[in-house]
Amino acid sequence: MPSAVKDFFDMSKASLISDHTSAMPGRLEHKVALITGAGSGIGLESSILFAQEGANVLLVDINLEGAEKGAAIIAQRFPNVKAVATKADVGKEDNIKAAVDLAVKTFGRLDIMFNNAGIMHPEDDNALNTEERIWDLTMTINLKGVWWGCKYAILAMRQNPTDESKGLHTGGSIINTASFVALMGAATPQLAYTASKGGVLAMTRELAMVHAREGIRLNSLCPGPLKTPLLMDFLNTAEKRDRRMIHLPMGRFGEAVELAKAALFLASDESSYLTGTDFKVDGGLSSAYVTAL
Ligand code: NAD
Repeated sequence: MPSAVKDFFDMSKASLISDHTSAMPGRLEHKVALITGAGSGIGLESSILFAQEGANVLLVDINLEGAEKGAAIIAQRFPNVKAVATKADVGKEDNIKAAVDLAVKTFGRLDIMFNNAGIMHPEDDNALNTEERIWDLTMTINLKGVWWGCKYAILAMRQNPTDESKGLHTGGSIINTASFVALMGAATPQLAYTASKGGVLAMTRELAMVHAREGIRLNSLCPGPLKTPLLMDFLNTAEKRDRRMIHLPMGRFGEAVELAKAALFLASDESSYLTGTDFKVDGGLSSAYVTAL
């Protein structure tokens, strides 16, 4: 539990005005982060940003090459922190457990778990056309993978040693990537994806309540449409991109780094009173009825 929060419960302290003594040069100084889907897009940008803010990072991806590239960038730019890449399939429980174990063995603790890996399968369709194997694959990676990530992160965070001088405490921050499609309907069907992300929102809220008094915060990150391979591989013609663009209030797709900045806020103690939220970073899309021309 951050000291500012502990002070709140310590009734012998009269003032609730923060003395800002917890302000540190890097917002994640001394902390350890595990990021899944770290080989591309949001996960890659978050790995680099978290390292820049002082965290040691375990970059996890089924695409080891991508994760290793991220670790190499961090090693080159931020020699004061450590970054390790490892291959894991978040759709396999033993892979996630091994990744969490590796983070704790390598860095001694786990403060931040960013369950970010996800897929949007090209054969995902409507209720009539989606095959069961596509549904099952999507659910296994996008929803079960997040459950397992939460499970092993919670077990590890309970064991975190406390060192108030470094702002370290038992517990931590878990961020689960959902999507704006879990909040609003779309006429372009991707049934399994949308349902899996709705599950992430519901599961994250419940876990946030169950673990709130252990100092473990859980929040969902809801990105809008982004310029990352996941969406751009799907919107592979100007016509398909323009069809979406008219609905985007800001007139542009989001950038992965804009999501990384939001994830950094959720990861750091700056969001110490935030848990159970659907944190939307969607350029206003989910507030739109019609958009400006
Ligand atoms: P991306 O395709 O750039 O990156 C996803 C990463 O996840 C890839 O490196 C991929 O190898 C990895 N991955 C896929 N399956 C995996 C598995 N089974 N185990 C481990 N790693 C795996 O995509 P992104 O846009 O950065 O997406 C990150 C998250 O954001 C996803 O959960 C996605 O659903 C969500 N999201 C993206 C958008 C968007 O428009 N791009 C919008 C809303 C939500």
